[in-house]
Amino acid sequence: MVDFTLTDEQKALREMAHDFAEKEIRSVAWELDVDGTWPQDIINKAWEIGLMNSHIPEEYGGVGASYLDGCLIEEELAWGCSGVQTTVGANGLAAAPVLLAGSEETKKKYLGMLTERPALASFCLTEPSAGSDVSGMRTRAVKKGDKYVLNGSKCFITNGGYADWYTVYAKTDPDAGHRGISAFVVPKDDTVIVDKKEDKMGQRASNTATITFNDTEIPAENLLGEENKGFKVAMMTLDRTRPGVAAMATGIARAAFEMAVDYSKERVQFGVPIAMHQAIQFMIADMSTKIHLSRLATWNSAVLLDQGRRNTIESSHAKRFAADTAMEVTTDAVQVFGGYGFIKEYKVEKFMRDAKIMQLYEGTAQIQRLVIARETLLPRRVEEPAAV
Ligand SMILES: Cc1cc2nc3c(=O)[nH]c(=O)nc-3n(C[C@H](O)[C@H](O)[C@H](O)COP(=O)(O)OP(=O)(O)OC[C@H]3O[C@@H](n4cnc5c(N)ncnc54)[C@H](O)[C@@H]3O)c2cc1C
Repeated sequence: MVDFTLTDEQKALREMAHDFAEKEIRSVAWELDVDGTWPQDIINKAWEIGLMNSHIPEEYGGVGASYLDGCLIEEELAWGCSGVQTTVGANGLAAAPVLLAGSEETKKKYLGMLTERPALASFCLTEPSAGSDVSGMRTRAVKKGDKYVLNGSKCFITNGGYADWYTVYAKTDPDAGHRGISAFVVPKDDTVIVDKKEDKMGQRASNTATITFNDTEIPAENLLGEENKGFKVAMMTLDRTRPGVAAMATGIARAAFEMAVDYSKERVQFGVPIAMHQAIQFMIADMSTKIHLSRLATWNSAVLLDQGRRNTIESSHAKRFAADTAMEVTTDAVQVFGGYGFIKEYKVEKFMRDAKIMQLYEGTAQIQRLVIARETLLPRRVEEPAAV
């Protein structure tokens, strides 16, 4: 049955997330944005009431929420501030490879760390010379007895400066391209150096850092899955996390849209509220349609995961469309505000700055189109199982 009616529990979850976003996030969002202030208080509170680590199963201390439930939370918190939501939600990105490919001991130890206290973990894939093309990565992991030794640098790592452990992708066979990548869990120690905190255009309350591994030794059992199968783990992770980015993009767009609608009813030009001008009405109608479709595509991609089905093309459809929508809607919201939209005091410009990253991280807008084209032109015949 095709039915996107939320259950009473899901409605209550969405309401709880919305209240939290309004009281704890919106109230300080613009303040945090000015200096890029780290939102530790919000992290603690979100962890306390179960808005973090939503996909970690109950046996590891998590909430065990469905992917659709996760999207409900992500849209609401991003409505409050997507920089804060990126911070609060990044554990999901780091934890997914562990859930997909970690041993039982690894899951208990590292997922347990996230659910016992408000700890953070980061996902380390990108490198200065390996962004969209991760096969170009240079970080090396060399097996020495019962250990692996890691050397190399990862850039643009969300929560990198505050993480207790990292999911790290490194080359175990440097000549094999993407078939030579393995995934590991790396705990923070003195050999893991936080080199640089980025000063960003938007999502300024989130931490984005360069992380360098200097002869970092980890036990061999911290390998996730099999050696040289890390690329598949990374791609399966992104299938699972892109619906969340799409939900965030929907939340940003909705926040800017609501401000534009309110403003259009108040601002009078040519003797009438600007909402009476058809050009403004059509802009508002297009914004509304795009937000609606973003949410539908997002929920569809999440529900497929909840059904244990492969969602590669649907999660790229959702991420691509919702991210482009967030950029278009926030730009149009500034347009509805006229010159005031360009002035920080009117607050709407923050959404336009925050929206841009939606088209960049977890696969750029172009990479989503590459995935969609590949899935269309070379469809896989066999339904893959939901886990490696
Ligand atoms: C704030 C922020 C947070 C991030 N968080 C994380 C994180 O937690 N963990 C992590 O591992 N990474 C993270 N990233 C990295 C992010 O995922 C990469 O920036 C992104 O994948 C793009 O890589 P790149 O920046 O090297 O761009 P490039 O790959 O150099 O791309 C440059 C341009 O070329 C285009 N392009 C590249 N290849 C193709 C192609 N084949 N066809 C068409 N167009 C192409 C791209 O779409 C883009 O427009 C983060 C980035 C930012 C800015």
